[in-house]
Amino acid sequence: MRADSRPTTRPAHNPSSPATALIVGASLAGLMTALTLSRTGVHVTLLERSDETGRTGAALHVQDGLLERITGLPTSQVPQPLAPGIQTWFAVHGALRAAIEANPIIELRQNTTVRKVGQDAHSAWALTSERQRITADIVIGADGHRSTVRRHIAPEHPDATFAGYVIWIGIADESAIRTRRWPQDVAFLGDNDNTLLGYPLPGANGSHAPGSRRLGWAWYDSSRNGLLRSTGSVNGSVVRHSLMPAGIPNATYRELAAQARELFPSPWKEAILDSIERRAVIGTPIAEYVPARLANGRVAIVGDAAHVPTPMTGSGFAESLYDAEAIANAISDSGTTTNALLNYESARIRSARNLVQSGQGFSRSFARRAA
Ligand SMILES: Cc1cc2nc3c(=O)[nH]c(=O)nc-3n(C[C@H](O)[C@H](O)[C@H](O)COP(=O)(O)OP(=O)(O)OC[C@H]3O[C@@H](n4cnc5c(N)ncnc54)[C@H](O)[C@@H]3O)c2cc1C
Repeated sequence: MRADSRPTTRPAHNPSSPATALIVGASLAGLMTALTLSRTGVHVTLLERSDETGRTGAALHVQDGLLERITGLPTSQVPQPLAPGIQTWFAVHGALRAAIEANPIIELRQNTTVRKVGQDAHSAWALTSERQRITADIVIGADGHRSTVRRHIAPEHPDATFAGYVIWIGIADESAIRTRRWPQDVAFLGDNDNTLLGYPLPGANGSHAPGSRRLGWAWYDSSRNGLLRSTGSVNGSVVRHSLMPAGIPNATYRELAAQARELFPSPWKEAILDSIERRAVIGTPIAEYVPARLANGRVAIVGDAAHVPTPMTGSGFAESLYDAEAIANAISDSGTTTNALLNYESARIRSARNLVQSGQGFSRSFARRAA
């Protein structure tokens, strides 16, 4: 789709429901929503600010048949199948991107940052940092926890709130960890002030063969809020950015290594030390957002733009899938565009709020313990 233009060919479609959609953000929620909307015949343009949306380390639980469920394709036609179980963010992102690239009614525009969205009675639009105005029937914000689109939906409550702790994340190759007993399950470890989530992962090629596997780890730490504030990673109650490997001070790496040796058993200790040695650690300050609204006229939000739970819930990805399915179902079933997005909000708002609130008890007590 070109700026201010409509596609020339499209499948048979209810004329009162949307025929074109802009999705702001082409990470997991945006990609899944593009795929489900395309199944209703809606032509989708994804606008993504970065050409490298990778989030190192986060691991996600993938349901059996996820790609088939989202695309409606039989397994034999899914461009890049995805095995069920715990998978890296990169594996999930790669499989969804392959499905997007094979879909003729989805266009992905990278290096396109949306500054603002707007709407009138006939259309909705996104204004980019290049001052381009791109128009469609609806705009969906899938632009994550610092969502720009959320400002249009809930101007009175636009920001997610810092939950009071950071998660250090890394992945280590099996070859770097000498251990005789390879963990089979997710492990929860630590003391009152430090919680570690460890997870066995397949190798980069998807293989579970001994020798090529990996261990992922996520270390919840509420003792370094001073560092988060001095680096500008957290400002007031708002999370601004993650601490990337090069932005983590050497002194912090040394402290984390010393703590890991003391606090955590093998093989998780070795996995953390290996990641620290390679400077392959990302610190993500955790934010939370309980939504009051998910739609306003021709504009709606999905994924972390709509609801930001602590990763301790382990549900952000699954809820993003339910958003993607609910918005497509609402468009198939509803008469008009605005009815469709209101019906999407009705279908999802309670679950979205419950999800975030279910993690707030953990966040409050974890942040308080080390305060
Ligand atoms: C540290 C961490 C660990 C997690 N662990 C788990 C877990 O174990 N289980 C689980 O289910 N979930 C987990 N999650 C949550 C899960 O990753 C997300 O819920 C899920 O990936 C959906 O994210 P999203 O696509 O909505 O947002 P994001 O991944 O934040 O993507 C937003 C996208 O929008 C783009 N964007 C932002 N602003 C603009 C703009 N103005 N213009 C254009 N593009 C823009 C960004 O570049 C990005 O690509 C974790 C999250 C974090 C941070």
